[in-house]
Amino acid sequence: MLTFERLYKMGHEEVIFFSEPSCGLKAIIAIHDTTLGPALGGTRMWPYASEEEAVEDVLRLSKGMTYKAAVSGLNLGGGKAVIIGNPKEDKSEALFRAYGRYIESLNGRYITAEDVNISVQDIDHVYTETNYVCGIDKANGGSGNPAPYTALGVFRGMEASATKVWGSRDSISSKTVGIQGVGSVGIELAQLVHDAGGKLLYTDISEENIGRMKERFPSAQYIAPEKFYGTEMDIYAPCALGATINDETIPQLKCQIVNGAANNQLAEDRHGQVLKDKGILYSPDYLINAGGLMNVSIEFEGWNDYKSRRMIDTIYDTTLRIFDMSEERNIPVNEATDALAEERLDSMKKIQTTYLGRGSDHRFPGTKARHNKL
Ligand code: NAD
Repeated sequence: MLTFERLYKMGHEEVIFFSEPSCGLKAIIAIHDTTLGPALGGTRMWPYASEEEAVEDVLRLSKGMTYKAAVSGLNLGGGKAVIIGNPKEDKSEALFRAYGRYIESLNGRYITAEDVNISVQDIDHVYTETNYVCGIDKANGGSGNPAPYTALGVFRGMEASATKVWGSRDSISSKTVGIQGVGSVGIELAQLVHDAGGKLLYTDISEENIGRMKERFPSAQYIAPEKFYGTEMDIYAPCALGATINDETIPQLKCQIVNGAANNQLAEDRHGQVLKDKGILYSPDYLINAGGLMNVSIEFEGWNDYKSRRMIDTIYDTTLRIFDMSEERNIPVNEATDALAEERLDSMKKIQTTYLGRGSDHRFPGTKARHNKL
């Protein structure tokens, strides 16, 4: 149940329920933390079995966005939204425009984008009603498909892992990378590994996506999903589902690095320590898959490809910094990543107590400085 005690515990600022019976809109927006700036996070549409389930999802996802933005060095807070409904039956222009009007009413505290089951066309309807939306079509001045940028960030993380384990980022050229899930991000990651000279293994359950891989990378080797974990490879790149690092899979792994795009790869936090004990270097998943978020965040200052790629390149150094923290403090990488995010949030909370004087926006001290950074 949603209680104030629960919100205090998870650190949420605000949870808003919006409804519009005429078009069947049932949406929940959770704003977790706006210490660093407006809360940015996508909208997910899902036929949740209960409202309770939708609340759980939006609370968990919005908190994750705070950590992702913080560790990525972005001046953004964490938020997320869910629309309860069947994406095949319940979508309409009216629903997304009604939703857009409610986002507008939040006055920029929350900015939305695509997430699961939300298309660029849906987002364009939202954009008709509010400017607090990103991930809009390139034709409308947006940044388009985020997958190539997400893949670039994952590859920068992979280079950092290669530096840590084998002494050089170029060492990928002599290594075998196994990609689990060759969808939007996985196939783009395959291209980057291929261009770097690495050998590719992959698995998937979609005939269509397997066919696409065969056509684009004829030399890459397909492995059946059930054999994938036990296959010899240097780098395992989970790019399909979360929780693939668990008690059942860890004993099977024959890789030295785990580095992929999937969200929440560790089934439980303790699996970070289990990987460490096994001598497998795990990359901080919510940092290395932040390329898509970095890319959309640039829309507000005028998107361009060069700026976006330069920002995503920083993932290499941040990943190495997290590896160093993990070593120095003798903690697993996932704990070091959380610590880096929390330390940034704590230090920024402290400077916000400084009074900024009566600037031009004297009615709301502090807000101007914050919003200018976005
Ligand atoms: P996608 O749906 O395009 O691709 C996922 C692929 O995984 C599909 O080809 C699917 O068939 C395959 N798959 C599903 N179950 C599988 C299984 N059991 N074994 C093997 N393959 C399986 O998704 P995507 O956009 O490429 O995202 C991949 C992952 O990265 C997801 O976990 C997503 O949450 C995460 N992520 C994506 C982005 C982005 O920009 N798209 C950003 C951050 C994180």
